[in-house]
Amino acid sequence: MPTPKLFIPGPIDVSHATYAAMSRPMIGHRGSEFEALYASTQPGLQQLAGTKRPVFLSTSSAWGVMEAALRNLTQKKVLTLCNGAFSDKWFDVAKKCGKEVEKLQYEWGQPIDPAQVRTKLAEGGFDTVTFIHNETSTGVMSDLAAIAAVVKSFPDVLLIVDTVSSFSAVPHAMDELGIDVLLAGVQKAMALPPGLTVFAISEAALERSKASKDRGYYFDFVEFEKNAAANNTPSTPAISLIFGLQHILETIAAEGLENRFARHRENNRLIHDWAARHGFQHFAPEGFRSVSLSCFHTPEGFDQSAFIKNLKTKHNFLINGGYGKIKGITFRISNMGNETSATMNELIAAMDDVLG
Ligand SMILES: *Cc1c(COP(=O)(O)O)cnc(C)c1O
Repeated sequence: MPTPKLFIPGPIDVSHATYAAMSRPMIGHRGSEFEALYASTQPGLQQLAGTKRPVFLSTSSAWGVMEAALRNLTQKKVLTLCNGAFSDKWFDVAKKCGKEVEKLQYEWGQPIDPAQVRTKLAEGGFDTVTFIHNETSTGVMSDLAAIAAVVKSFPDVLLIVDTVSSFSAVPHAMDELGIDVLLAGVQKAMALPPGLTVFAISEAALERSKASKDRGYYFDFVEFEKNAAANNTPSTPAISLIFGLQHILETIAAEGLENRFARHRENNRLIHDWAARHGFQHFAPEGFRSVSLSCFHTPEGFDQSAFIKNLKTKHNFLINGGYGKIKGITFRISNMGNETSATMNELIAAMDDVLG
Protein backbone atom coordinates (compact mmCIF):
# COMPACT_ATOMS: atom_id res chain seq x y z
CA MET A 1 0.00 0.00 0.00
CA PRO A 2 1.42 3.43 -0.88
CA THR A 3 1.50 6.15 1.77
CA PRO A 4 -2.06 7.44 2.29
CA LYS A 5 -2.98 10.80 0.81
CA LEU A 6 -3.30 13.27 3.66
CA PHE A 7 -6.55 15.10 4.37
CA ILE A 8 -5.47 15.69 7.97
CA PRO A 9 -5.07 19.38 8.95
CA GLY A 10 -1.30 19.30 8.76
CA PRO A 11 1.05 18.23 7.54
CA ILE A 12 -0.95 18.10 4.33
CA ASP A 13 -0.45 16.50 0.93
CA VAL A 14 2.63 17.75 -0.95
CA SER A 15 2.59 17.75 -4.75
CA HIS A 16 5.14 15.89 -6.87
CA ALA A 17 6.06 19.18 -8.52
CA THR A 18 6.95 20.60 -5.09
CA TYR A 19 9.13 17.58 -4.25
CA ALA A 20 10.80 17.94 -7.64
CA ALA A 21 11.53 21.62 -6.97
CA MET A 22 12.99 20.70 -3.58
CA SER A 23 15.41 18.20 -5.07
CA ARG A 24 17.44 20.83 -6.90
CA PRO A 25 21.20 20.60 -6.20
CA MET A 26 22.33 22.31 -3.00
CA ILE A 27 23.72 25.84 -3.05
CA GLY A 28 25.66 27.79 -0.43
CA HIS A 29 23.61 30.24 1.62
CA ARG A 30 26.18 33.03 1.65
CA GLY A 31 26.19 33.81 -2.03
CA SER A 32 24.33 35.57 -4.79
CA GLU A 33 22.40 32.45 -5.86
CA PHE A 34 20.82 32.10 -2.43
CA GLU A 35 20.18 35.83 -2.19
CA ALA A 36 18.29 35.67 -5.48
CA LEU A 37 16.29 32.69 -4.21
CA TYR A 38 15.46 34.51 -0.97
CA ALA A 39 14.54 37.72 -2.80
CA SER A 40 12.25 35.80 -5.15
CA THR A 41 10.08 34.68 -2.21
CA GLN A 42 9.48 38.19 -0.90
CA PRO A 43 6.83 39.69 -3.21
CA GLY A 44 4.60 36.60 -2.96
CA LEU A 45 4.96 36.27 0.81
CA GLN A 46 4.41 40.01 1.34
CA GLN A 47 1.24 39.82 -0.72
CA LEU A 48 -0.06 36.82 1.24
CA ALA A 49 0.70 38.55 4.57
CA GLY A 50 -0.52 41.96 3.44
CA THR A 51 2.68 43.72 4.41
CA LYS A 52 5.42 45.90 2.96
CA ARG A 53 7.79 44.66 5.66
CA PRO A 54 10.28 41.87 4.87
CA VAL A 55 9.02 38.33 5.47
CA PHE A 56 11.58 36.28 7.39
CA LEU A 57 12.26 32.58 6.83
CA SER A 58 12.80 30.64 10.04
CA THR A 59 14.12 27.09 9.91
CA SER A 60 11.82 25.78 12.61
CA SER A 61 8.25 24.68 12.99
CA ALA A 62 5.71 27.35 13.98
CA TRP A 63 6.35 26.89 17.69
CA GLY A 64 9.87 28.21 17.28
CA VAL A 65 8.53 31.59 16.18
CA MET A 66 5.56 31.43 18.58
CA GLU A 67 8.02 31.11 21.46
CA ALA A 68 10.39 33.63 19.87
CA ALA A 69 7.66 36.25 19.68
CA LEU A 70 7.29 36.10 23.48
CA ARG A 71 11.03 36.13 24.09
CA ASN A 72 11.49 39.13 21.80
CA LEU A 73 8.44 41.17 22.74
CA THR A 74 7.04 40.41 26.20
CA GLN A 75 8.74 42.59 28.79
CA LYS A 76 5.79 43.18 31.13
CA LYS A 77 2.90 40.75 30.74
CA VAL A 78 1.30 38.80 27.91
CA LEU A 79 -2.40 38.08 27.48
CA THR A 80 -2.97 34.73 25.74
CA LEU A 81 -6.35 34.31 24.02
CA CYS A 82 -7.20 30.63 24.48
CA ASN A 83 -9.88 28.59 22.70
CA GLY A 84 -8.22 25.34 21.62
CA ALA A 85 -5.15 23.15 21.80
CA PHE A 86 -2.64 25.49 20.15
CA SER A 87 -3.83 28.72 21.76
CA ASP A 88 -4.05 27.04 25.21
CA LYS A 89 -0.51 25.75 24.82
CA TRP A 90 0.75 29.26 24.09
CA PHE A 91 -0.19 30.15 27.70
CA ASP A 92 1.97 27.25 28.98
CA VAL A 93 4.83 28.21 26.68
CA ALA A 94 4.76 31.79 28.03
CA LYS A 95 5.09 30.40 31.57
CA LYS A 96 7.94 28.13 30.49
CA CYS A 97 9.71 31.19 29.04
CA GLY A 98 9.41 32.78 32.50
CA LYS A 99 7.00 35.45 31.27
CA GLU A 100 4.24 36.99 33.31
CA VAL A 101 1.07 35.77 31.64
CA GLU A 102 -2.71 35.86 31.99
CA LYS A 103 -5.24 34.17 29.79
CA LEU A 104 -8.73 34.73 28.51
CA GLN A 105 -10.10 31.19 28.32
CA TYR A 106 -12.97 30.06 26.10
CA GLU A 107 -14.60 26.69 25.71
CA TRP A 108 -13.01 24.74 22.89
CA GLY A 109 -15.15 25.35 19.82
CA GLN A 110 -15.96 28.95 20.74
CA PRO A 111 -14.43 32.03 19.06
CA ILE A 112 -12.54 34.79 20.92
CA ASP A 113 -14.84 37.66 21.94
CA PRO A 114 -13.25 41.05 21.06
CA ALA A 115 -15.30 42.92 23.71
CA GLN A 116 -13.85 40.71 26.46
CA VAL A 117 -10.35 41.29 25.10
CA ARG A 118 -10.96 45.03 25.46
CA THR A 119 -12.18 44.66 29.06
CA LYS A 120 -9.18 42.52 29.98
CA LEU A 121 -6.61 44.82 28.38
CA ALA A 122 -8.23 47.81 30.11
CA GLU A 123 -7.14 46.29 33.44
CA GLY A 124 -3.64 47.39 32.37
CA GLY A 125 -0.17 45.92 32.72
CA PHE A 126 -0.12 44.03 29.41
CA ASP A 127 2.37 44.68 26.62
CA THR A 128 1.62 41.74 24.29
CA VAL A 129 -1.33 39.62 23.14
CA THR A 130 -1.18 36.20 21.45
CA PHE A 131 -4.00 35.23 19.13
CA ILE A 132 -4.60 32.23 16.88
CA HIS A 133 -6.62 33.21 13.84
CA ASN A 134 -7.69 29.71 12.83
CA GLU A 135 -7.69 27.21 15.75
CA THR A 136 -6.77 24.10 13.82
CA SER A 137 -7.76 21.84 16.73
CA THR A 138 -11.40 22.98 16.69
CA GLY A 139 -11.96 24.44 13.22
CA VAL A 140 -12.83 27.84 14.70
CA MET A 141 -11.80 30.98 12.84
CA SER A 142 -12.08 34.01 15.12
CA ASP A 143 -12.54 37.57 13.86
CA LEU A 144 -8.97 38.78 13.32
CA ALA A 145 -9.95 42.28 12.17
CA ALA A 146 -12.11 42.87 15.26
CA ILE A 147 -9.45 41.55 17.66
CA ALA A 148 -6.75 43.63 15.94
CA ALA A 149 -8.89 46.78 16.19
CA VAL A 150 -9.26 46.25 19.94
CA VAL A 151 -5.56 45.58 20.54
CA LYS A 152 -4.57 48.56 18.37
CA SER A 153 -6.58 50.85 20.63
CA PHE A 154 -4.02 50.07 23.37
CA PRO A 155 -0.89 51.72 21.90
CA ASP A 156 1.66 49.92 24.11
CA VAL A 157 0.29 46.44 23.45
CA LEU A 158 1.76 44.42 20.55
CA LEU A 159 -0.34 41.82 18.76
CA ILE A 160 1.16 38.43 17.82
CA VAL A 161 -0.97 36.47 15.33
CA ASP A 162 -0.65 32.80 14.39
CA THR A 163 -2.04 32.30 10.87
CA VAL A 164 -0.60 28.79 10.52
CA SER A 165 -3.70 27.19 9.02
CA SER A 166 -5.17 30.27 7.32
CA PHE A 167 -2.12 31.75 5.55
CA SER A 168 -2.76 31.64 1.77
CA ALA A 169 -6.25 30.17 2.32
CA VAL A 170 -7.77 33.58 3.13
CA PRO A 171 -6.48 37.12 2.56
CA HIS A 172 -4.36 38.74 5.27
CA ALA A 173 -3.81 42.45 5.88
CA MET A 174 -1.01 42.70 8.42
CA ASP A 175 -0.10 46.37 7.86
CA GLU A 176 -3.67 47.60 7.54
CA LEU A 177 -4.77 45.82 10.74
CA GLY A 178 -1.65 46.86 12.66
CA ILE A 179 -0.51 43.31 13.44
CA ASP A 180 2.95 43.24 15.03
CA VAL A 181 3.94 39.64 14.36
CA LEU A 182 2.26 37.45 11.75
CA LEU A 183 3.55 33.89 11.45
CA ALA A 184 2.75 30.69 9.57
CA GLY A 185 4.33 27.24 9.44
CA VAL A 186 4.50 26.03 5.84
CA GLN A 187 3.25 22.44 6.33
CA LYS A 188 -0.38 23.53 6.69
CA ALA A 189 -2.06 25.78 4.14
CA MET A 190 1.13 26.26 2.09
CA ALA A 191 1.38 22.53 1.29
CA LEU A 192 5.12 22.19 1.88
CA PRO A 193 6.85 19.57 4.02
CA PRO A 194 7.36 20.73 7.63
CA GLY A 195 10.44 22.59 8.84
CA LEU A 196 10.03 26.21 7.80
CA THR A 197 8.05 29.11 9.26
CA VAL A 198 7.48 32.42 7.51
CA PHE A 199 6.89 35.53 9.62
CA ALA A 200 6.91 39.30 9.51
CA ILE A 201 7.23 41.87 12.29
CA SER A 202 6.17 45.51 12.52
CA GLU A 203 8.55 48.43 13.13
CA ALA A 204 7.17 48.61 16.67
CA ALA A 205 7.97 44.94 17.23
CA LEU A 206 11.50 45.52 15.93
CA GLU A 207 12.00 48.41 18.35
CA ARG A 208 10.61 46.37 21.26
CA SER A 209 12.88 43.50 20.35
CA LYS A 210 15.96 45.72 20.32
CA ALA A 211 15.18 46.67 23.91
CA SER A 212 14.70 43.06 25.07
CA LYS A 213 17.73 41.67 26.85
CA ASP A 214 17.21 37.90 26.90
CA ARG A 215 16.03 37.25 23.37
CA GLY A 216 18.80 34.76 22.56
CA TYR A 217 20.38 34.32 19.15
CA TYR A 218 18.65 31.73 16.95
CA PHE A 219 15.28 33.51 17.05
CA ASP A 220 16.52 37.07 17.54
CA PHE A 221 14.21 39.33 15.51
CA VAL A 222 16.93 41.98 15.22
CA GLU A 223 19.24 39.40 13.57
CA PHE A 224 16.46 38.38 11.18
CA GLU A 225 15.89 42.02 10.23
CA LYS A 226 19.61 42.67 9.67
CA ASN A 227 20.03 39.57 7.49
CA ALA A 228 16.80 40.14 5.56
CA ALA A 229 18.18 43.47 4.38
CA ALA A 230 20.82 41.40 2.54
CA ASN A 231 18.30 38.74 1.42
CA ASN A 232 19.62 36.24 3.90
CA THR A 233 18.95 34.44 7.19
CA PRO A 234 20.91 34.55 10.47
CA SER A 235 21.89 30.86 10.33
CA THR A 236 21.95 28.16 7.65
CA PRO A 237 18.34 27.78 6.50
CA ALA A 238 16.50 24.71 5.16
CA ILE A 239 17.45 25.60 1.59
CA SER A 240 15.54 22.69 0.02
CA LEU A 241 12.35 23.91 1.67
CA ILE A 242 13.00 27.38 0.32
CA PHE A 243 13.28 25.87 -3.19
CA GLY A 244 9.87 24.33 -2.48
CA LEU A 245 8.55 27.65 -1.17
CA GLN A 246 9.68 29.43 -4.32
CA HIS A 247 7.83 26.83 -6.39
CA ILE A 248 4.61 27.09 -4.35
CA LEU A 249 4.67 30.88 -4.58
CA GLU A 250 4.95 30.58 -8.36
CA THR A 251 1.91 28.28 -8.45
CA ILE A 252 -0.02 30.70 -6.21
CA ALA A 253 0.86 33.63 -8.49
CA ALA A 254 -0.14 31.63 -11.57
CA GLU A 255 -3.49 30.67 -10.05
CA GLY A 256 -4.15 34.17 -8.74
CA LEU A 257 -4.92 34.96 -5.11
CA GLU A 258 -8.65 35.51 -5.56
CA ASN A 259 -8.96 32.19 -7.40
CA ARG A 260 -7.02 30.45 -4.66
CA PHE A 261 -9.23 31.90 -1.92
CA ALA A 262 -12.37 31.01 -3.90
CA ARG A 263 -11.08 27.46 -4.43
CA HIS A 264 -10.64 27.02 -0.67
CA ARG A 265 -14.18 28.29 -0.01
CA GLU A 266 -15.59 25.97 -2.65
CA ASN A 267 -13.65 22.89 -1.42
CA ASN A 268 -14.74 23.66 2.11
CA ARG A 269 -18.37 23.97 0.99
CA LEU A 270 -18.17 20.51 -0.61
CA ILE A 271 -17.23 19.03 2.77
CA HIS A 272 -19.96 21.02 4.53
CA ASP A 273 -22.53 19.73 2.02
CA TRP A 274 -21.29 16.17 2.52
CA ALA A 275 -21.60 16.55 6.31
CA ALA A 276 -25.11 17.96 5.99
CA ARG A 277 -26.17 14.98 3.86
CA HIS A 278 -25.00 12.62 6.63
CA GLY A 279 -26.21 14.75 9.54
CA PHE A 280 -22.73 15.47 10.96
CA GLN A 281 -22.79 18.56 13.19
CA HIS A 282 -20.10 21.25 13.11
CA PHE A 283 -17.99 21.74 16.23
CA ALA A 284 -17.66 25.47 15.46
CA PRO A 285 -20.65 27.81 15.52
CA GLU A 286 -21.98 29.28 12.27
CA GLY A 287 -20.08 32.42 11.28
CA PHE A 288 -16.83 31.22 12.88
CA ARG A 289 -16.10 28.15 10.79
CA SER A 290 -12.71 27.75 9.22
CA VAL A 291 -12.56 27.66 5.43
CA SER A 292 -9.39 25.55 5.38
CA LEU A 293 -10.56 22.62 7.48
CA SER A 294 -13.76 21.26 9.03
CA CYS A 295 -14.24 19.83 12.51
CA PHE A 296 -17.34 17.74 13.28
CA HIS A 297 -18.83 16.17 16.40
CA THR A 298 -18.62 12.38 16.37
CA PRO A 299 -22.28 11.32 16.58
CA GLU A 300 -23.44 9.08 19.47
CA GLY A 301 -22.92 5.44 18.56
CA PHE A 302 -20.89 6.25 15.45
CA ASP A 303 -17.71 4.16 15.23
CA GLN A 304 -15.39 6.98 14.28
CA SER A 305 -12.17 4.98 14.50
CA ALA A 306 -13.57 2.27 12.18
CA PHE A 307 -14.67 4.98 9.73
CA ILE A 308 -11.19 6.51 9.63
CA LYS A 309 -9.46 3.12 9.52
CA ASN A 310 -11.64 1.82 6.67
CA LEU A 311 -11.17 5.03 4.70
CA LYS A 312 -7.44 4.46 4.98
CA THR A 313 -7.29 0.72 4.27
CA LYS A 314 -9.90 0.73 1.51
CA HIS A 315 -9.23 4.06 -0.20
CA ASN A 316 -5.83 5.18 1.10
CA PHE A 317 -7.10 8.55 2.37
CA LEU A 318 -6.25 9.81 5.83
CA ILE A 319 -8.49 12.14 7.83
CA ASN A 320 -8.01 13.02 11.51
CA GLY A 321 -9.82 11.65 14.57
CA GLY A 322 -9.68 14.77 16.73
CA TYR A 323 -6.90 16.56 18.59
CA GLY A 324 -6.01 16.93 22.26
CA LYS A 325 -8.89 16.66 24.71
CA ILE A 326 -11.48 16.39 21.88
CA LYS A 327 -9.76 13.39 20.28
CA GLY A 328 -12.37 10.74 19.52
CA ILE A 329 -15.36 13.01 20.13
CA THR A 330 -14.57 15.06 17.01
CA PHE A 331 -13.02 14.41 13.62
CA ARG A 332 -11.38 16.78 11.15
CA ILE A 333 -10.98 17.03 7.39
CA SER A 334 -8.56 19.44 5.73
CA ASN A 335 -9.14 21.16 2.41
CA MET A 336 -5.94 23.20 2.50
CA GLY A 337 -3.29 23.51 -0.15
CA ASN A 338 -3.52 22.11 -3.65
CA GLU A 339 -6.86 20.31 -3.39
CA THR A 340 -9.40 20.83 -6.16
CA SER A 341 -13.11 20.08 -6.34
CA ALA A 342 -12.09 16.89 -8.19
CA THR A 343 -9.81 15.65 -5.40
CA MET A 344 -12.33 16.67 -2.71
CA ASN A 345 -15.02 14.77 -4.59
CA GLU A 346 -12.77 11.68 -4.69
CA LEU A 347 -12.47 11.89 -0.92
CA ILE A 348 -16.23 12.42 -0.58
CA ALA A 349 -17.00 9.39 -2.79
CA ALA A 350 -14.62 7.30 -0.67
CA MET A 351 -16.20 8.50 2.59
CA ASP A 352 -19.68 7.77 1.21
CA ASP A 353 -18.51 4.30 0.23
CA VAL A 354 -17.14 3.61 3.72
CA LEU A 355 -20.33 4.94 5.37
CA GLY A 356 -22.31 2.59 3.15
C1 LIG B 1 0.04 23.11 13.61
C2 LIG B 1 -0.19 24.39 14.33
C3 LIG B 1 0.78 24.94 15.19
C4 LIG B 1 2.03 24.23 15.57
O1 LIG B 1 2.85 24.06 14.52
P1 LIG B 1 4.19 23.22 14.63
O2 LIG B 1 4.55 23.19 13.22
O3 LIG B 1 3.87 21.89 15.21
O4 LIG B 1 5.13 23.99 15.47
C5 LIG B 1 0.52 26.16 15.76
N1 LIG B 1 -0.62 26.82 15.52
C6 LIG B 1 -1.57 26.33 14.73
C7 LIG B 1 -2.83 27.11 14.52
C8 LIG B 1 -1.38 25.10 14.11
O5 LIG B 1 -2.34 24.61 13.31
